[in-house]
Amino acid sequence: MISGYGIHSGSRSKVFFHLEDGPIRFYKNNTYIPANLDSVVATPRCTVLGKNNQNIAMVEHLLASLHAHNYWSGLVIEVIGDELPILDGSAKAWFEALGDINLKPKIPQAIILKQGVEYNHLNTAIKAIPAKHSLQVNVDYDHPAIGQQSWRGSHLDYKELQTARTFGFLKEAEALKKAGLARRAELENVIIFDDVGAMQKLRFKNEIVRHKALDATGDFFLLARPLEAKITISRGSHESHIAFLRLLRQSL
Ligand SMILES: [Zn+2]
Repeated sequence: MISGYGIHSGSRSKVFFHLEDGPIRFYKNNTYIPANLDSVVATPRCTVLGKNNQNIAMVEHLLASLHAHNYWSGLVIEVIGDELPILDGSAKAWFEALGDINLKPKIPQAIILKQGVEYNHLNTAIKAIPAKHSLQVNVDYDHPAIGQQSWRGSHLDYKELQTARTFGFLKEAEALKKAGLARRAELENVIIFDDVGAMQKLRFKNEIVRHKALDATGDFFLLARPLEAKITISRGSHESHIAFLRLLRQSL
């Protein structure tokens, strides 16, 4: 069992893993919520899955750990609460807890693209082209301590993303709180940047792009199958990841 409070709502939740055949799904208040694209109900600075008005926010870090472990079936994730715990801001605890489960991954057949898929919106560009699987994530923040960063790797490298923490900007904190978000954002669960630099010591020089890559692998897990493609994401967000994945699915 993993418990803790949600960074956005500030409310506590508990999560239990149950080994059960079938596709990976969440379970809340007698409702099963499949971990796939059709369950995405919103993307307010996190990814929210839901069904019959039973929603679970902030699923992306847990999904990223499932992706890294190649766990595509055999697990029901029971959630008591509305938002998964933020924990230390990274996926470390999820990754370790899933590692303790003796799940023998049956890896579904990968999605093979017939043609490239491209999504462009404002500053964001996401594309996938038919090729052996790889993921490249680029960020470009107008902030002296971040700037441009890139991460590139294959599925085998996803585990090196697990300890990269979420981040935010001090100057946005007030507006986020007014919007009902980041209510429980604290130095112990999010890297906070003031106008000069990070208020905590970073775990990696490129921890920011690593976290963005972690978020992307979480959202891409919602395809429910591995994606055999060369994926490039520049300045992505949960909203744009989901829009891209819907576009990609239409193209199959
Ligand atoms: Zn994240």
